[in-house]
Amino acid sequence: MRDDLLRQATRIVIKIGSSLIASRDTGLRPEQIDRLADEIAAVRSSGREVLIVSSGAIISGIKKLGLKEYPKSLPVKQAAAAVGQSRLIWAYEKSFERLDVKVAQILLTHHDLADRRRFLNARHTLNVLIGFGVIPIINENDTVAVDEIRVGDNDTLAAEVAHLVDAELLIILSDIDGLFTEDPRKNPAATLIPLIPDITEEIEQRAGISSTFEGTGGMATKVRAAKKVSAYGVATLILNGQEASLLPRVLAGGSGGSLFLAKERRFTSRKHWIAFTLRPRGTLTLDSGAVEALARRGKSLLASGILDVSGPFDTGDAVSCLDQDGKEFAKGLVNFSSDTVARIKGLKTSEIQQQLGQQEYEEVIHRDNLVILDQR
Ligand code: GLU
Repeated sequence: MRDDLLRQATRIVIKIGSSLIASRDTGLRPEQIDRLADEIAAVRSSGREVLIVSSGAIISGIKKLGLKEYPKSLPVKQAAAAVGQSRLIWAYEKSFERLDVKVAQILLTHHDLADRRRFLNARHTLNVLIGFGVIPIINENDTVAVDEIRVGDNDTLAAEVAHLVDAELLIILSDIDGLFTEDPRKNPAATLIPLIPDITEEIEQRAGISSTFEGTGGMATKVRAAKKVSAYGVATLILNGQEASLLPRVLAGGSGGSLFLAKERRFTSRKHWIAFTLRPRGTLTLDSGAVEALARRGKSLLASGILDVSGPFDTGDAVSCLDQDGKEFAKGLVNFSSDTVARIKGLKTSEIQQQLGQQEYEEVIHRDNLVILDQR
């Protein structure tokens, strides 16, 4: 099963971690970029479409600017990213040129993904590039991204890209072999888990115990990324990118790395976007009748079932729906601001009109804009 999936995946997003292609002492390592480019070109010539999400801009910029240590202040980090990104893309450009492969630079922030029009626009552009036989090389637009609009780490960005382009497989290349039964640095008897059929809570906890040495990720962000795309029907392979030729070998059905299987795709792209790309701006706590109506009977959310609201949020924002135990079971786009929801919660439709004087929408969240995460 593992072999078939890896052999047959045609559209693949490959995330390359900083530690593979740069270090703080040496800056970018062009020989490593060349090796990975050779391997990726080989994967492509077996008839696959590849997109790359590459880190390394900040580390490379630190070296180029001659900074003694990792910058603490945001503007210095952003300056390093600007200097480093041009060097990073230049290195990829030169490397792939040797192989007669064209590349393109794409820089994204969370803002680009959270705005549905921009999201769709990015999707179209990436599809056109792939159609031209170009390898898009994507990174976060670190130079302009402040906290509210940052994706934050490239494991998550790669998961977003896998959804954006409807990939079948996400490959996260880093300096670790995959997911182990225990932390291999603490227990040498720990073994690599080759196949993870389901990302259970136990797996998520296990991911919290090991980490990489460079980069912002660690195992936790990788497993979180795998979980995110799994709900959209995309499998994730975590693989050691330091081992020469491992990538083409594993994609030809060889052993190595940890493969997280995908779930059956439950949501449309738009619903997946509501559930996994948008960040909730607040919460609505619902009574048991409303939880039942939404989760089991596919109904829209009315004000009468809302017990509590926390915000602030505006009309059109994403919010989490919680049951009375505080457990999130759904997400959706609200038709009213948090102030208005606070005024109408618990009221019947006729009472709402009295309260507000007018009412544009009957539902607080329409079922078309509602994603049930836990069907109970
Ligand atoms: N975007 C960052 C960079 O290029 C890396 C973020 C990450 O490693 O997750 O330096």
